[in-house]
Amino acid sequence: MKFCSNCGSPIQHGELPGEHLPRYYCAVCGTIHYENPKVIVGCLPIWEDKVMLCKRGIEPQYGLWNIPGGFMENDETVEEGAVREMTEETGGNVRVLGLHTIYNVLPVNQVHLHFLVELVDLNYSLTEESIDIQLFKEEEIPWREIAFASSRFALKRYFADRQQGLRQTHVGTYKTR
Ligand code: ZN
Repeated sequence: MKFCSNCGSPIQHGELPGEHLPRYYCAVCGTIHYENPKVIVGCLPIWEDKVMLCKRGIEPQYGLWNIPGGFMENDETVEEGAVREMTEETGGNVRVLGLHTIYNVLPVNQVHLHFLVELVDLNYSLTEESIDIQLFKEEEIPWREIAFASSRFALKRYFADRQQGLRQTHVGTYKTR
């Protein structure tokens, strides 16, 4: 952002009274333009002893497998956003079981929230965002072709929990590129 979204004046960057970090601000109208992490919402879809993965048809990480997810929109809850992303990427119908992982991605200032969801049927289909969709048993997961650390974290925790008969929420962090 180069110009103030409030008044159009050029933006400054620096220390401000009462702020513990340098901020972008407008010296003309006084608006502080805060930069904060973005929320990514997604689903870990399960069906019997399998999980659903989507092969990404968009960048970044085109062609790698991922669990459905994307940027949260204004005016929606995190659950609504997760289900919307599921619908956009797979057309699948799900029932939300609960929050599965909260994953901090520090290098890109994102927080990923993944909900455990169960497919209510097998009516799903390829979309512009997904060039392949498959259900994988644990031993079939293509671990070396998983797109994002947050997906890998969610999958690992899910299978570990399942082995112990647990359903719980996990917090993880990705610190370096
Ligand atoms: Zn301004």
